[in-house]
Amino acid sequence: MTDNAEELIHVEYTQPWRYRWSTGKYIGKAYAETKRNKRLMGNRCSKCQEIVWPPEPVCPRCKVPTGEKWVELGDTGTVLQYTYQVMPMWDPHVGRARAHPHPSANIRMDSGCHIMHRLEETDPEKLKKVKRVKAVWKEEGRQGGMDDILYFRAIDG
Ligand SMILES: [Zn+2]
Repeated sequence: MTDNAEELIHVEYTQPWRYRWSTGKYIGKAYAETKRNKRLMGNRCSKCQEIVWPPEPVCPRCKVPTGEKWVELGDTGTVLQYTYQVMPMWDPHVGRARAHPHPSANIRMDSGCHIMHRLEETDPEKLKKVKRVKAVWKEEGRQGGMDDILYFRAIDG
């Protein structure tokens, strides 16, 4: 090291405590449904009748309270667009850069709303043919949330 070289100091710090927080009434219900019943649930706006996903207390379009009209989104939909990673990106969930093996997709559920999730297919040529998909849920270890779905698998028709 020369006299002008900058010394980099690495400090490792691990939080010694675990904590929990409330996700709130609406997201809390949606996460409980994925964990317990393997269902995606949104709520329907009382004015425009659109499904609000993720569920919220106020419709983002109409700005009116959505209420308690819960609607199941279902497990099937149509892929509108997908993308896959070539370069690793920073993943805050694991604390390092990684390329996720499954492509990310915009899926229009048959119930009408759009969700973002992963596709099972990883072959770029086969991906071009993927249209209709169905959610593949974790059988064990569901914790509440979108990661309770492993990915969406291609289905016929
Ligand atoms: Zn609305």
